[in-house]
Amino acid sequence: MTNSKGSFAAHEKHRKRGSRLWLLPLLLLLMVTCIYLGLRHFKPDWIFLIEEQVSGITRHADLTEIPENRLSFEKISLTDISNQPDTYTTDSSLMLVNDTHMLSEDYTPDLISYKDTDVEINPSLEESYHDLAAEIKSRFDTSLYIRSSYRSTAEQAAESEAEPTLAAAVGASEHETGLALDVYVPRFAGSGFIKSGAGRYVNRNCWQYGFVIRYPYGKKSVTGIPYEPWHLRYVGKPHAEIMYKASLTLEEYIESLVPGACYEYGGYLITRQTPEDGTLSIPKGLQDTRISPDNEGNYILCGIMAD
Ligand SMILES: [Zn+2]
Repeated sequence: MTNSKGSFAAHEKHRKRGSRLWLLPLLLLLMVTCIYLGLRHFKPDWIFLIEEQVSGITRHADLTEIPENRLSFEKISLTDISNQPDTYTTDSSLMLVNDTHMLSEDYTPDLISYKDTDVEINPSLEESYHDLAAEIKSRFDTSLYIRSSYRSTAEQAAESEAEPTLAAAVGASEHETGLALDVYVPRFAGSGFIKSGAGRYVNRNCWQYGFVIRYPYGKKSVTGIPYEPWHLRYVGKPHAEIMYKASLTLEEYIESLVPGACYEYGGYLITRQTPEDGTLSIPKGLQDTRISPDNEGNYILCGIMAD
């Protein structure tokens, strides 16, 4: 009788423990949710970077190579191209500038003053930056400021001397082209920029305005420079979209374009050409054609394809 009572009690205890087991996954889920919400509140930059890395796995940009026999080309000299500003827009928006692709000594940047201020920028990004800053103002009710834009050789030399580990050497900085901007919002500058909602918005959406985060998180092995959430580089559309969606740096994007091949992306034709006797083979029938040197001896041409 005692034995039977004892075994009944043990069985009952085991049953109760078993019936509480379902609580475990619930508690675990609650714990993970609390940690996530806590991090989201106290470390929004960490969560942002994790989310971006995860979405980077599923994001993609597919360029389709167009068979050469589907296109007809005309050979135009580089001189004629620059003499036809109504047909071809020439700029340096896709020029690679880093410590192995230095600016030539005779390089002269194209500069304007941004909206009558003393901020000097490349004219190709004026409208895009204005639109991005207006979007930040309307979404976050805060102003997006430029801390640094164009730097003259003397200014870059001073910067490089003051911060040799952070600033590039003379000739190796995109700031010398006027195509790079270091931006901030009040109270959130430098690496703190992504601690602000505006900073995270800029990092995630600047491609829509033709900008890329030139030194993205996790790409130091390619760019040689750690993550700089504040440094925007103008490359134009649709290149910025492709680079963001395919998680490519400018180095990787240029490398991915095989010289001579023509690609289609979202209604645009993109081709990287090596000049032959000072001429480029330009596909016929393009509209709004833009041409930029890549600083590797080639030119990247991009235009809207006719329907
Ligand atoms: Zn910068």
